[in-house]
Amino acid sequence: MSAKLKLKAKEIFERSLEVIPGGVNSPVRAFTGLGMDPLIVERGEGDTITDVDGRTFIDYCMSWGALLHGHAHPKIVEAAIERIKRGSSFGIATEVEEKLARTITGGINCVDQIRFVSSGTEAAMSAVRLARGYTSRPVVIKFNGNYHGHSDGFLVKAGSSVSQLGKDSSSDGVPREVVKNTLSLPYNDVDTFKKVMRDPFYSRFVAAVVLEPVAANMGVVSPSAEFLQVLREETKRVGAVLIFDEVITGFRVAFGGAQELYGIQPDMVCFGKIIGGGFPAAAFGGTRDIMNRLAPVGRVYQAGTLSGNPVAMEAGLKALEMASVDGFYEEIERKTKMITEPVENALKAKGMAACIQAVVGMFTLFLGTKEVRCFEDLKGLDKEGFNRYFRFMWDRGIYISPSPYEACFISSAHTEAHLEKTRDAILEFIGTC
Ligand code: PLP
Repeated sequence: MSAKLKLKAKEIFERSLEVIPGGVNSPVRAFTGLGMDPLIVERGEGDTITDVDGRTFIDYCMSWGALLHGHAHPKIVEAAIERIKRGSSFGIATEVEEKLARTITGGINCVDQIRFVSSGTEAAMSAVRLARGYTSRPVVIKFNGNYHGHSDGFLVKAGSSVSQLGKDSSSDGVPREVVKNTLSLPYNDVDTFKKVMRDPFYSRFVAAVVLEPVAANMGVVSPSAEFLQVLREETKRVGAVLIFDEVITGFRVAFGGAQELYGIQPDMVCFGKIIGGGFPAAAFGGTRDIMNRLAPVGRVYQAGTLSGNPVAMEAGLKALEMASVDGFYEEIERKTKMITEPVENALKAKGMAACIQAVVGMFTLFLGTKEVRCFEDLKGLDKEGFNRYFRFMWDRGIYISPSPYEACFISSAHTEAHLEKTRDAILEFIGTC
């Protein structure tokens, strides 16, 4: 690579720094802590991305899990273009919104009705407002290291790039009064949760319990079967709404999401990422009883100029149609295991303080810890080790999510050859440790 070519990404980043805070429109893209300039991408095709300097990488970020079928899948591109030709936004209802709503409600048991929004943040924020309106209660329980977007009430011990901000993972600009009704508890900790739910105050005032049913914003962390079961039982007992934030897991771990995989039915669900087929779309849904409280039927307000955008709906509809074929998720899981199983064996053989955790189409290699069940298990995370790992993969043309707190995502577009190359690179990295 010539120095001249290399300069292009740097040049663009430096210009961006002048007009965009940190040069990026979402913090994790800045490569904070990695000690290198961020990637400036030019195009994507299948399982690869190419940057402005012509460097091509096998991509495991996949727009943070949004691209279940890889970049620029011809069928999704065609669906979007056909829609754009007829107008890209109206601020008026379109038929495709009903089609996508019907596809989702048909695939997800607890969702009778769904409302589309433009981001996962909006979906989670609106779901909580609706749960509070429905129960007439104020308190929301979440879990440390889970991420539900950047609305004020959720910025307490949140995962993803919020976790790199400071001691209690919160944000400046969020007054204490705003988060006083948010309680954040340790993930997978059944006893603590039960204790809180049996407290006379909480059993009376908890409106909603919200979680990532598989955590993916502190790396991939599975829920224990007991944890999900107890959450379901206790919320039911006290009359609180159980919300699964399936912004990542929806249509990723199964067509019916984590609730299908683990056989637990929540009262409400949030979706995002995959349901927009790579365009900005998200949604929240639930039982008819709850959704009927939403304006214009009920008195809980929520709205959006670009909500249910027809281009995003067409792309999402195509993405879901392609995921609905028999064996789709088995194939995604097989591809994931091509990487994770040999890596797991190598880590065990070496006795390394590290582990690889995966659920169907996503995985995280944790360096510095042998098992992660909750955010607190990440105390010993080897951040320097992660930086070396990231760089090692980068130098071999493989782009993993640029933070130790994130997941890598497998798409149907990942080729056997690329998966093998990735597996071999990780094994080689382990060999250097
Ligand atoms: N919920 C979860 C589980 C997420 O992973 C994310 C984003 O990664 C969000 C909500 C917020 O979604 P968005 O970034 O679209 O606002």
